[in-house]
Amino acid sequence: MLKLTAEETEFRDAVRTFFARDYPAHVIARNKAGQRLTKQDHIDAQRALNARGWLGVGWPREVGGTGWTPAERYIFDQELELAHAAAIIPMAVIYIGPIIAAFGSDQQKADWLPAILESRSFWAQGYSEPEAGSDLASLRFSAVRDGDDYILNGTKIWTSGAQWADWIFCLARTSREERKQQGISLICAPLDLPGISVHPIRLIDGSDELNRIEFDNVRVPVTNRIGDEGQAWHYANVLLKNERLSYAHIGSKKRDLAKLLEEAGRLPANGGGTMDRDPAFRLAHARVAARLAAIEASILRALRSEISMATAAALKIACTECAQAITELGIDVAGRNRLPMLDRGEADWAAAAPATTPFGPVAVQSYLFERAQTIYGGSTEVQKNIIWRSLAGMAR
Ligand SMILES: Cc1cc2nc3c(=O)[nH]c(=O)nc-3n(C[C@H](O)[C@H](O)[C@H](O)COP(=O)(O)OP(=O)(O)OC[C@H]3O[C@@H](n4cnc5c(N)ncnc54)[C@H](O)[C@@H]3O)c2cc1C
Repeated sequence: MLKLTAEETEFRDAVRTFFARDYPAHVIARNKAGQRLTKQDHIDAQRALNARGWLGVGWPREVGGTGWTPAERYIFDQELELAHAAAIIPMAVIYIGPIIAAFGSDQQKADWLPAILESRSFWAQGYSEPEAGSDLASLRFSAVRDGDDYILNGTKIWTSGAQWADWIFCLARTSREERKQQGISLICAPLDLPGISVHPIRLIDGSDELNRIEFDNVRVPVTNRIGDEGQAWHYANVLLKNERLSYAHIGSKKRDLAKLLEEAGRLPANGGGTMDRDPAFRLAHARVAARLAAIEASILRALRSEISMATAAALKIACTECAQAITELGIDVAGRNRLPMLDRGEADWAAAAPATTPFGPVAVQSYLFERAQTIYGGSTEVQKNIIWRSLAGMAR
């Protein structure tokens, strides 16, 4: 396990105090109750973090980032989740922010990064298309040069949070080359431009935070391209590695496992006593807890050195399976309180199940949503291909 140095212990205590004292209590209360957070909740949460200088978690100091060591970042993430604080919306802060900082022009850094830190602009990630998901390099979304502009045409799909976002970063084909990974550029567009339409997609857990976005002759200046033309495959992969590592959520897994024990302590078990004393439940719980401890140890080891794409892929699979196992146990604990899909308003719970605690519907929604982790950020099969390619390369 991570043995904290004296400085790291001091840092952890400062983070803990911040969430207890200086962070918006209404956000913690809603999150703890399993309710969906509004955009305003996220703005309040992110502004509190930014006021403390703690929003730009993966950014260098020169552009307003924390400049934290991997261990500090890990401690922060864990304390945020243990405190039931809102997850930082990743598309701007975790995904594109570090790419703008590393590969963007000075003008782009000046225009875009402060707006992200001040939560004046939210971003969406335009990678996937109807015929290009796992095989992302087959994308057909086009950017055709016209003087000092690009004309964008095509469809992006499964775009998380686009209904909230002000900007989108898109992988776009700017030329056809021998290798399909070449000729792709990273181009950004404000989502309110003429020719852009956003269509929500309703998911199995009842949410509609995913979208399909149509681009019909949308004109953006060439200065909206990050980095060199045709070279975005490299930037896209740097971003994807950061994205896959951001799914670890060790703090929330610990929190959810503790919550399961607490809930089980309230439920009668077959043969008397409460469910938390039931040997079958204890064994299932201990198995997931042991798996989580092993993942945490692996992550901590990985943080000590440069993390390869294959390591990020292996960690993504392990974290996905662990998250899904926790939600499966949640369904067992929810038992008769399992309710069909509901939105997470108190009124819905009260109307649908006056005698139950909110745990049941939250458990069902978490179970349903966690199925998607096998797919988003690159499916489990695709992660296995990445690991295989790395092992095959080493064997040569
Ligand atoms: C909740 C959620 C949020 C998302 N958010 C975003 C977002 O914000 N922005 C964005 O751009 N995208 C987003 N995505 C899209 C996501 O990245 C894609 O769904 C994912 O890359 C898979 O692509 P696909 O859906 O086209 O499936 P396909 O690529 O069509 O895959 C279908 C199945 O075939 C398997 N498969 C495909 N190729 C191979 C292979 N070579 N070897 C073995 N098996 C293979 C896959 O594992 C999968 O099981 C999101 C998806 C979800 C579910």
